[in-house]
Amino acid sequence: MSAKPAPTLQRVRSWGMVQESRSYVVSPRTVEEIRDVFAAARGRGCSVGCRGGGNSYGDAALVADGFLLDFRQMNRILEWDPDKGLLRVEPGCTIREAWRHTLEDGWWLPVVPGTMEVTFGGAAAMNIHGKNNFKLGTFGENIVAFDLLLTDGRLITCTPTENREIYLAAIGGLGMLGVFTSITYRMKRVHSGLLEVEPFAVASMEETFELFDRLEADADYLVGWHDGMVGGRSLGRGLVHRARDLKDGEDPDAATTLKLSHQNLPGRFFGVIPNSWLWAGLWFFLNDPGMRLVNAMKTWSGRRHAAKGVYRQAHAAYHFLLDYVPGWKKAYLPGGLIQFQAFVPKAHAVRVFEKLIEHAHRHGHPPYLCVTKRHKPDPFLMTHAVDGYSLAMDIKVTRRGKSAVWAMAEGMEELVLDAGGRLYFAKDSVMRPSTVERAYPRENLEVFLRLKRELDPDLLLETDLFRRIFRPLLDARPTKTPGMTTSSSSGA
Ligand SMILES: Cc1cc2nc3c(=O)[nH]c(=O)nc-3n(C[C@H](O)[C@H](O)[C@H](O)COP(=O)(O)OP(=O)(O)OC[C@H]3O[C@@H](n4cnc5c(N)ncnc54)[C@H](O)[C@@H]3O)c2cc1C
Repeated sequence: MSAKPAPTLQRVRSWGMVQESRSYVVSPRTVEEIRDVFAAARGRGCSVGCRGGGNSYGDAALVADGFLLDFRQMNRILEWDPDKGLLRVEPGCTIREAWRHTLEDGWWLPVVPGTMEVTFGGAAAMNIHGKNNFKLGTFGENIVAFDLLLTDGRLITCTPTENREIYLAAIGGLGMLGVFTSITYRMKRVHSGLLEVEPFAVASMEETFELFDRLEADADYLVGWHDGMVGGRSLGRGLVHRARDLKDGEDPDAATTLKLSHQNLPGRFFGVIPNSWLWAGLWFFLNDPGMRLVNAMKTWSGRRHAAKGVYRQAHAAYHFLLDYVPGWKKAYLPGGLIQFQAFVPKAHAVRVFEKLIEHAHRHGHPPYLCVTKRHKPDPFLMTHAVDGYSLAMDIKVTRRGKSAVWAMAEGMEELVLDAGGRLYFAKDSVMRPSTVERAYPRENLEVFLRLKRELDPDLLLETDLFRRIFRPLLDARPTKTPGMTTSSSSGA
């Protein structure tokens, strides 16, 4: 029997390296060990936060002066049914570990983010999306069931029909209602280890979304990349990639392409330089002139690439482009980066996205990376998705320029909120309580706050993001709420 994990006091950084907090980090391996942490935190009068792979750009997985549950060691695959495609995992299991377990049986995850280091717990808590949000919905829409440990020690099972209200609130609930201890996930059947990919050059945002509209019916995935360094008549220029799953029989070599060895990302640049060194080279380009050059070169090579037409690419290579260069974010040091991802209804997206980029240029903080995607609404209480499009912008933060970036972001928020849009907690560093009150339907927000009080009356579960945005909203509301009942409780 191994010893219980002991908390260690550590400085923990946000993924974007802008925020940092000191926490007592504990790595539980069992539900009982999480209960022990709840008890210890109560004893000391401090909070508990959850952390998966730590891939949230801002302060979503930090908790200053609290216990931080780091789930990376609670990562076992509990059950795999290759006939039904159902996978049950512990919360610290990563997207990488999941597809590596199932692909050779012909199953891939229906929803994956841009990095495979994300865990199931983190993906559920943020209800993440992929390049196919318009087609297969969000991560949460493919969760068949989960076990949630409440702060009073009860372990409850939630499904779309059992404890439905909590199911809809805990998915996308920022880890604030309880701790996911296991997740059952519906995988997607694939008949090849390859996707068919088609690139298109686009000259503007307008052209991008016209193209998205035209391609949507025949696409399994759609994503746009834009040169965020240019304005005027070039504003929005870039590339769109449409990808499609191959149907049964379309890949004569499926038995080979489904093998894990076919999915390895290249480890060396031009076969020589280890990819893990590349971030240091990138560092020289992480300034306005350097990024103007990099974006212009990508636009130029993208046009040539688009002219060549359709090609086939391995799933991992298509989805996890950002994992090609491990540690690339270090090129943003010493200040780090934030990401601003705006979700805007269809009718306003072109104009709002153009204004966002222009606004960033006017403030002297142009986005070094701009990505667009197509989204659709989902049933989850605190979801970020709307019937429209998103624009994600990576913005460099310098130590001296931090307050200027935050001031710029306030103006960007206004543009998004005025258009009925939303921002995304997984990427957020800048939202204020008033932003959430304007962005989310009032009824949803009130139900979420009520559930927080009912399921975690002592507010044991907190993160820095929760303290920044939701705590002031809770404090402004009366505390008395009627008790609530949950079915199928198990455990203590
Ligand atoms: C390079 C890169 C690309 C990305 N691409 C995308 C993308 O395409 N689409 C997208 O939607 N997102 C994307 N993201 C964001 C990322 O998917 C989310 O931030 C995700 O939540 C991170 O998961 P994680 O395991 O790292 O969790 P963390 O970032 O550590 O935590 C995220 C949240 O989950 C909570 N949490 C973690 N474990 C548990 C648990 N067991 N129980 C309850 N709560 C828990 C934490 O408290 C926190 O609130 C990207 C991030 C990066 C760095």
